[in-house]
Amino acid sequence: MEKTTQLYEGKAKKVYATDDPGCCIVSYKDDATAFNGLKKGTILGKGAVNNRVSNHLMRLLEANGVPTHLIEELNDRETLVKRVTIVPLEVIVRNIAAGSLAKRLGLDEGVKMRSPVLEYCYKNDDLGDPMVNDSHILAMGWATRAELDQIAGYALRVNQVLADYLRDAGIELIDFKLEFGKTADGTILLADEISPDTCRFWDSKTHEKLDKDRFRRDLGGVEDAYQEILRRLLGE
Ligand code: UDP
Repeated sequence: MEKTTQLYEGKAKKVYATDDPGCCIVSYKDDATAFNGLKKGTILGKGAVNNRVSNHLMRLLEANGVPTHLIEELNDRETLVKRVTIVPLEVIVRNIAAGSLAKRLGLDEGVKMRSPVLEYCYKNDDLGDPMVNDSHILAMGWATRAELDQIAGYALRVNQVLADYLRDAGIELIDFKLEFGKTADGTILLADEISPDTCRFWDSKTHEKLDKDRFRRDLGGVEDAYQEILRRLLGE
């Protein structure tokens, strides 16, 4: 399948149309942003790591009952996916307090939550992705009750499957962000990416951060952390 016109360019990916109206090609970039675009940089090799890690985890999720947009990895940076309309929500699941949750509730980073926390943010850069609840989502028509129930169920299933899998690779799954899409026939699929850009991964023993927080907080060793995730998950 060949790329035709560019449909979209985001902070970390470009999306192209193909000859097949039901398929797109996603191309992962090395560009990194944080704090709603205020901080910009490059993480060498990030695009290839995120492409390969995301596809690996989506294959695992498919095998465990979560339908995804993944069709086929085309090369290091590019993947063929099902074309969807993105539900304009960031779906966040948290096991351990970090980032904005730690700040909002006055918790130390690393405090374990008694049960997984599910949050939604409205995807809108101009508004800084404000947090919303079920009631806002239904009132704004971003999803129906049935769609939101399906999204919540999938998000918690993703958490279970990934947390178990990552634990065996010596990685603690602190929190992550998902995006879902809707195909032309109305099917809800897991879309976007699952990578060190969109998850917090800590080394199980040392609690060393192996994710984009190294970039956000200028901790150094950013490229190495991404390569380490690739190595632990795909063995290379
Ligand atoms: N996250 C993301 N994109 C965003 C915001 C958050 O992928 O635009 C991920 C982030 O990497 C973390 C989780 O969602 O794994 C929770 O992020 P948080 O709300 O703590 O915000 P942050 O501290 O990243 O601004």
